[in-house]
Amino acid sequence: MSLPGDRFSPEVDATGPAPPADTVDLLPIYCRHGVTWSWVDYEGGYVCDDPAHHEGPPATMVGAIPEDHQPTFAHPPNDAQREALEAEDARRRVERLTDRVNKLTRG
Ligand SMILES: [Zn+2]
Repeated sequence: MSLPGDRFSPEVDATGPAPPADTVDLLPIYCRHGVTWSWVDYEGGYVCDDPAHHEGPPATMVGAIPEDHQPTFAHPPNDAQREALEAEDARRRVERLTDRVNKLTRG
């Protein structure tokens, strides 16, 4: 099942044509927060360039980057994408709060 909160508007997905498959793993990518993640050969995966932003096991592929940092971009997110992501974050906060309230009031 796909929840509405998991979907992004078409503008957010429109990051342009995908680069050739043999080079895609070598380019740094940007997480939803606009922080770069670089492919580190000896780690065997993508590692966040800012340890204060994210520290953890390397992601073996772009899709393996933690969900908190998805979606990823080939370029820094533009204003429209940032706004969409912020709206998404706000919606998730409301959902989490609603869940908590529901649990508390039911319990
Ligand atoms: Zn991030």
